[in-house]
Amino acid sequence: MRSKISMLMVLLLIFSVATVFAAGQAEAPGEPARLAVATGGTAGVYYPLGGAFANIISEKVAGVTANAESTGASVVNVNLLNTGEVDFAMIQNDIAYYAFNGEEMFSDNPALANLRGVASIYPEVIQIVVNANAGIDSMNDLRGKRVAVGAPGSGTEANARQILTAHGISYDDIRADFLSFAEAADALRDGNVDAAFVTAGLPTAAVTDVSTTHNVKILSIDDSVARAIIADYPFYDQVTIPAGTYSRQDSDVSTVAVMAMLSVRAGLSEDLVYRVTKALFENLDMFAAAHARGGNLSLETATGGMPLDLHPGAARYFREVGR
Ligand code: GLU
Repeated sequence: MRSKISMLMVLLLIFSVATVFAAGQAEAPGEPARLAVATGGTAGVYYPLGGAFANIISEKVAGVTANAESTGASVVNVNLLNTGEVDFAMIQNDIAYYAFNGEEMFSDNPALANLRGVASIYPEVIQIVVNANAGIDSMNDLRGKRVAVGAPGSGTEANARQILTAHGISYDDIRADFLSFAEAADALRDGNVDAAFVTAGLPTAAVTDVSTTHNVKILSIDDSVARAIIADYPFYDQVTIPAGTYSRQDSDVSTVAVMAMLSVRAGLSEDLVYRVTKALFENLDMFAAAHARGGNLSLETATGGMPLDLHPGAARYFREVGR
């Protein structure tokens, strides 16, 4: 009997030490045990991938849970990250660069110095989706039309403005509507807009949805204009949307793309970001299962095209695995 009691006490002791240890691991002084991940609208790619990332943290990083939040995307996200309202965020690499260096849409504000990189992930393709019956055959035909240019504070909206400008078109020449991807898809379907800009990984749910129920097409950007855009804004690359990516899309579409990346606020500890980065790369299957573009994440490409300094925790993981 006595030995049973002492056995029980030993077990209790082990249990309480383990509990304290697990909690201690998560909580460096001032470190949250619940992390917030900023994504984008529900009909994009950030949302499912940010959700998978949050699940990986909750399931695989001891003592920490994470929650994915729907937001207006990149520009909103860099601000949320910089002020510490969220801990991780999916963002475009062009917006990350402008924010960190106080350029373009951030030129009136102090640079957002708290942004750090974790990994570059996949190309985000600028998709200019138009109602097939709106008489729009080229970018120039967008003049005078109702155009969804992205959610307020999205990277999409910044891309729409730059790409329209490269064609000599300003917001004064169109009727700009600031809509999320889901709202833009509804508006295209209901005939409330003639065209919509979408900057997101392929395939994008909003474009898949509208193309199955409605007659839409995707505009190409002429090579000469694409080259001029890339000369002015080096984060763009020329890419092809392969025929068949969407219903009724019979031919390749030539356009430009930026890169999606995972970022983190500078204030999180090296230890925590190391453990999160390690969990992510050890569970790539969970990430890829959430959306095809999650499959692009790899150790080989994670640090390419990264405009931010890597967080020391991510850098430590990459060093450890010989990157
Ligand atoms: N890249 C888009 C933006 O920042 C969001 C893409 C997405 O939600 O997948 O506007």
